[in-house]
Amino acid sequence: MVTRGSETYDVAGIGFGPSNLSLAIALREHPDRTTARGASGEGVSAAFFERQPAFGWHRNMLLPSTTMQVSFLKDLATFRNPTSDFSFVSFLHSSGRLPQFVNNQDFFPTRHEFHQYLEWAAARFADDVSYGSEVVSVREAPGDGTGPTEHLLLDVRDALGDVTQLRARNVVISTGLVPHMPSGVARDERVWHSSEFLDRYRRMDPGELRSVAVVGAGQSAAEITRFLYDELPHADVHAIVPSYGYSIADDTPFANQVFDSEAVDDYYFGTDQTREAFWRYHQNTNYSVVDDDVIRALYRRSYDEQVRGTSRLRFLNLTRVSGVKREGAETRISLHSHVGGRPSELDVDALVCATGYDGMEPTGLLGELDRHCLRDDAGRYRMERDYRITTTPELRCGIYLQGGTEHTHGLTSSLLSNIAVRSGEIAESIVLRRPVGVG
Ligand SMILES: Cc1cc2nc3c(=O)[nH]c(=O)nc-3n(C[C@H](O)[C@H](O)[C@H](O)COP(=O)(O)OP(=O)(O)OC[C@H]3O[C@@H](n4cnc5c(N)ncnc54)[C@H](O)[C@@H]3O)c2cc1C
Repeated sequence: MVTRGSETYDVAGIGFGPSNLSLAIALREHPDRTTARGASGEGVSAAFFERQPAFGWHRNMLLPSTTMQVSFLKDLATFRNPTSDFSFVSFLHSSGRLPQFVNNQDFFPTRHEFHQYLEWAAARFADDVSYGSEVVSVREAPGDGTGPTEHLLLDVRDALGDVTQLRARNVVISTGLVPHMPSGVARDERVWHSSEFLDRYRRMDPGELRSVAVVGAGQSAAEITRFLYDELPHADVHAIVPSYGYSIADDTPFANQVFDSEAVDDYYFGTDQTREAFWRYHQNTNYSVVDDDVIRALYRRSYDEQVRGTSRLRFLNLTRVSGVKREGAETRISLHSHVGGRPSELDVDALVCATGYDGMEPTGLLGELDRHCLRDDAGRYRMERDYRITTTPELRCGIYLQGGTEHTHGLTSSLLSNIAVRSGEIAESIVLRRPVGVG
């Protein structure tokens, strides 16, 4: 728990998911002997705020048997510091499972196990994080009016709704992706986004779910479809897929190079054509694609149904949701199919929209401060290589982003692949930019 008094922190981290957890580790391990929170007044002082009541990483998608899409070696620290005490290997060692993990011969742990790892690491920063604390705005701290702004004020709302202020020289915004619903479809107690899936599902009586539908063609859509099919043996499960079928995620070695930290330089310092080529050729490493094993598991179930002469797993390919109407407890979905082109309707007891996410958008948080943030011709933030928004000279404080920098830093911006190196670069930048005489 962070104390808020007259202290000015070197850095305030907004959100405490994997990105800022990795930053907390990078600060603690910085060779300059930074101490998170700078307990003795030495080193970099850092305070983190997380709106959830406890650490949690996409808890509502911790479905049984789902696996990570990055190697366990791309953990919070190893690529920056292979000897880190915060590595996944160190976690396995302290859990007494290192030999068994190696015997299992799998680069990709389950998401459940990775969550345990993240919780284990987060628990070691209990003094530096305030949970149940949402940062509602960041603004300029009033100065003497003679020079550039040196300090920022964060308004932090706690679980009771009380708002307190914290002063910081820099902020690192890592608030994560924003759930995206199909246009014209609103969430309610029977229309869910995948980001709330398990929570919503557990509130239902499974016996009531006799017909369910999942929209989307990506990893979460395929995982939820498989989960519902296995969990609800009495139910019809409709997979509404905008493509002709699920496409595979390319995780072959050459394609995987786009996630290397060197690729960030190639992207950042490249031309518009360079950046466009990254997306054109390699979007299928992560976006709207599904892991091979999940595709095969679903096809196997579908084929087994044909053998048995049943059909409760139904794929509606090349189909989009054009609207949703509530009829009592029933949800009526309007569908538009590109096969035949005829509109149709489908009644279900629950609809899950696994329709992805929009990028992190800090504009709301920054409010008035946004006028100091420079933008490119397309209206996107101009970014420095160290993940700092390019600001006017009147603002000396650093506003760093972890996420929302796909246009400048490329495909890894919201992923785990480069998290250790990225947060190390941010930590380094914060240390280097400290005013002389502080610490
Ligand atoms: C189901 C799922 C599985 C994924 N699996 C992988 C994978 O295997 N490999 C991979 O590379 N990527 C994966 N991703 C991508 C994902 O973006 C990263 O795994 C990771 O979550 C990024 O970490 P983050 O800390 O930037 O964001 P998040 O994990 O989203 O954390 C952001 C945190 O900020 C908090 N927050 C938001 N606003 C505020 C505020 N105003 N004040 C205080 N706190 C706030 C949120 O509560 C949240 O805890 C997955 C995504 C999903 C949805």
